[in-house]
Amino acid sequence: MQLGKPIAAKQGLQWYLAEMATKLEAARLLALKAADLRDRNLPASMNASMAKLFAAETANEIAAKALQIHGGYGYMKDYAIERIYRDARILTIYEGTSEVQKIVIAKELLK
Ligand SMILES: Cc1cc2nc3c(=O)[nH]c(=O)nc-3n(C[C@H](O)[C@H](O)[C@H](O)COP(=O)(O)OP(=O)(O)OC[C@H]3O[C@@H](n4cnc5c(N)ncnc54)[C@H](O)[C@@H]3O)c2cc1C
Repeated sequence: MQLGKPIAAKQGLQWYLAEMATKLEAARLLALKAADLRDRNLPASMNASMAKLFAAETANEIAAKALQIHGGYGYMKDYAIERIYRDARILTIYEGTSEVQKIVIAKELLK
């Protein structure tokens, strides 16, 4: 609530939510496509790297937006979003950094 009205009623924040949900769905579909290729024993390394790259970067973007939507409360440890924001930060680093995922994707593209 802000000035007696739900912040979710603000169109600017609804746009944030729509963008976040759309990117989350895209990340899920990239992961499912890579998993499907792997399940069928087809080449999957480029798709797996695309999924890891996009999902990790998107998780950071979405967590940052979610924290922003919470305003000052988002920065405080009282709310889960503060931890989610910190936890998301590792995703672009472990299990192959985003830079390394791009190297794998480019290598496959240039084959
Ligand atoms: C919490 C946590 C848990 C972990 N768990 C595990 C685990 O269970 N098992 C495991 O094996 N490892 C684990 N790791 C290690 C993790 O996989 C590495 O930190 C990660 O692979 C990055 O390697 P590095 O830290 O040596 O960074 P570096 O390889 O030194 O990279 C530093 C920077 O240089 C960039 N870079 C490196 N090479 C290139 C290149 N050729 N071109 C462009 N940019 C490049 C990187 O993207 C990065 O931005 C964990 C790390 C953390 C923080």
